[in-house]
Order: sequence, then C-alpha cells, then structure tokens
Amino acid sequence: MEMGFQIFNHCFKPTKSIKISLLEREKHKTGKDGISSFAVAVIGGGLAGLSLSILLSKAGYKTILFEKEKYPFHKVCGEYVSLESWNFLESLGLNISQLKLPIIKKLMVSSPDGNFIKANLDLGGFGVSRYFLDNKLKEIAVENAVTTCEETKVNEVLFNEERFAVKYNGGEVSALVVAGSFGKRSNLDVKWKRDFTKPKNSKLNNYIGVKYHIKTNYPADTIALHNFQNGYCGVSKIENDKYCLCYLTTAQNLKDNHNSIKELEKNVLYKNPFLKKIFSESEFLFKEPVTISQISFDKKSQIENHVLMLGDAAGMITPLCGNGMSMAFHAAKIAFGNIHLFLQEKISRKEMENRYADEWQKEFAKRLKNGRNIQRLFGKEKLTNFFIKAIKPFPFIVDKLIKGTHGHLF
Ligand SMILES: Cc1cc2nc3c(=O)[nH]c(=O)nc-3n(C[C@H](O)[C@H](O)[C@H](O)COP(=O)(O)OP(=O)(O)OC[C@H]3O[C@@H](n4cnc5c(N)ncnc54)[C@H](O)[C@@H]3O)c2cc1C
Repeated sequence: MEMGFQIFNHCFKPTKSIKISLLEREKHKTGKDGISSFAVAVIGGGLAGLSLSILLSKAGYKTILFEKEKYPFHKVCGEYVSLESWNFLESLGLNISQLKLPIIKKLMVSSPDGNFIKANLDLGGFGVSRYFLDNKLKEIAVENAVTTCEETKVNEVLFNEERFAVKYNGGEVSALVVAGSFGKRSNLDVKWKRDFTKPKNSKLNNYIGVKYHIKTNYPADTIALHNFQNGYCGVSKIENDKYCLCYLTTAQNLKDNHNSIKELEKNVLYKNPFLKKIFSESEFLFKEPVTISQISFDKKSQIENHVLMLGDAAGMITPLCGNGMSMAFHAAKIAFGNIHLFLQEKISRKEMENRYADEWQKEFAKRLKNGRNIQRLFGKEKLTNFFIKAIKPFPFIVDKLIKGTHGHLF
C-alpha cells in the first residue's frame, strides 16, 4: 500500500481515504481558524494507544495519535505477552502466528537464596520485544489511516463545550473525544496533579525498572522470575534468539548502592545464584540498559477531565503478573466500544464515561488488587525465601496465584 506524506512536523497523514460516517463528516471539517479537527485524539502511542487508534480508524473515525518518541524504540518491559491477547492482536491485523515467536508455557520462580519452584502456565504467553511490537502496530495504524504524529509531545488538553483542544509542541488540534494512553507517568499526570504523582511514603510507590537484551542459554518455553532483596528479575525469550532480562526494584535499593546500577547488580542481584550465573555467562547486547523511574502501583482514575484513560495511565498491574500489556490491549477494546456508541450518538458523553469506568473496574480492579498483594509478599528477602520453600510441595497454590492476576481471551 502507498504510504502517506508528512503534515505538521512529524505526523504521517496517510493517503488512504478516511471513511467517516455521514453523521460524523459534518463534525470533523477543519475549523474556521484552520485548526485540524478529529473525531478522536489519542495521547501516547504505546500498546493501549496504538490499538485503540487502529480500532477507531478501522471503524471509520478520523483519528490522530500522538507519540513523543520516534518508532522503533526500546521500552522497559519484560516482553512476555499473555496469550489472552492473541486473538485481539490478530484482529488488529498483526499476524502473530507467522512471526514464529517463542511460545512460553512454563514458569520458574527462584527465591534470593537460590531455592526454586516450577509450574506450568495454564494459558501461557509469547515473547516479543517492544521495539518490534510497538513498531509493527504503528505500521498497522498508518496503513489504517491513523494520522500518526511521532516526536510530538502533548502539553495540554482543554475541554470546552463538548470539544477538546489538544496542544502539542508545534500546534493544536481539536477533537470530540480524547483518550489518555500515556503510560505509567507523564507530563500530563503531573500537570493534572493526579493523586499518584504527589509524594507519598507508600510501599507501592517509587520503583525503578531496568532492561537488557541478552544472548544466553535458557529454555525457550520458560519464563523465569528470580527474586532478590526488594525486587525481582524476569528472563524470557523474544524474537531472533534473544532474551529479555528485566528487573524491578525500589528507588531506595538503587540509592543504597550509590545510584549505580552495576553496584546494585553486584551487591544485591548476584546474591541469587541464578542471577549471578545469568549476569556472568550471558552476552549483553546493549551498551547501557534501558531504565525508568518513579513507577507507582497506586490506584488511578479511569476518567480525568473527560479524558478516557487506558493502559498504565488508568492503573498499573505489578510486572510480576506478566499481564500489563494484555490489560492495555483489553482496555483499548473496552474504550473503543464506548467511544463508538458515543460517536454514533447512541449514548451521551456522561454515559460513555460512566460505562467505560464501570467496565474497566469490573474487568481489572480485582486483578490489580491481587497483583498489589503479591508484590507486597515478594519484596522481602526472608519472606520470599520462606514462601518459596513453603509452597514448593503445593504447586496448586502457584496456579491459583497466577489465575488471580490473569484474565481470559478477549
Ligand atoms: C519492569 C517492568 C516489566 C514489565 N514486564 C511486563 C511483561 O513481561 N508483560 C506484560 O504484559 N507487561 C509487563 N509490564 C507492563 C507493561 O510494560 C505495561 O503495562 C504496558 O507497556 C502498558 O502499555 P501502555 O500503552 O499503557 O503504556 P506505554 O507502553 O508506556 O506507552 C505510553 C506511551 O505514551 C508516550 N507518552 C507519554 N506522555 C506523552 C505525551 N505527553 N505526549 C505524547 N506521548 C506521550 C510514551 O512515550 C509511551 O510511548 C512491565 C512493566 C515494567 C515496569
């Protein structure tokens, strides 16, 4: 298919014709002041934002997507996608079966002292890097006529008389609906003074994430979760015979090691014999790891200033559940259903907001709570050592914990 040309600074407006229902056509003309007008503006081009944009554009709505980075790019993530999302991704146009990605069916969990348990994963997952996956979805978005603006950071969203003004570095657009899929923590969260951005002394606040791609010798069908003091590290296979090694720990743990990732790894992670072996014997493919900070697992709101929040921006599940990506996709599907009804004038804006928040809560609130409870358990070295030893003879407990944090095919 012939691809688009550039508008604004970094936006690709595809040449493929955009189908907009008659009902919508009147509403999306360029305004008198020359400001481009869209049915929906999506802020943040991670998995939630990309998949929502594709669904909207496929349904004929004029959609603009803003992403502050340039694709493809690396992200801190364990890169294990639960099979819950398989059908959904295929329906977006991503032919996963053809990609020959590693299918992961087994879990191994080790405690800081080197004890371990193994379990079969009921549903399982597949491994794929975010560098590859997000970029593939971006290509599908462009093919499906989403106006995709890269290197474009949204700075302000104003709601006035049933329309939004979305302001970004270099311009402004107008939209009937805005979706906020800007991830764990963004400039807009701080600007809107969202509760989780306020400094708090909570155990669920202020984590850091570190990721590498490595070449190593490890079974392709197994994801490992190796615990260490105040954190855990996931290892699983992705595309091209590479493995993702990604860990989460507290900011305090890094601070206690002179803010040096190398010291943290040597002094803390290496105490787990499995991690010591992986770090010493693998080939590390990045010069420096990809890192993020200020991760919070606190509760978040699903609607902010009439903006529908989705993905991590609506609530982040603890990474040991290996499920955040599927939740981001699933939230996009739920948001799409309600935005569609609103744009078809079948429900009011208030109904769209309430229905979306209710459906989100019904689908995800319990999983997030279970994830937070497990996270509390895994932080402490002695407790994790004891827990792994205690449940080793009872593998059904592990199955129960996994089921409590996962959903179903959607
Ligand atoms: C250490 C760690 C390991 C994890 N491991 C796994 C795992 O193995 N499996 C799993 O399923 N989940 C995992 N997760 C969770 C998973 O990464 C997230 O749940 C998922 O990325 C959420 O997708 P999203 O689209 O909401 O956010 P993101 O993928 O973070 O996308 C948000 C996007 O918004 C952009 N953005 C932000 N602000 C603006 C702005 N103002 N304007 C424009 N763009 C903006 C950002 O650049 C970003 O690209 C892990 C998370 C962590 C921290």
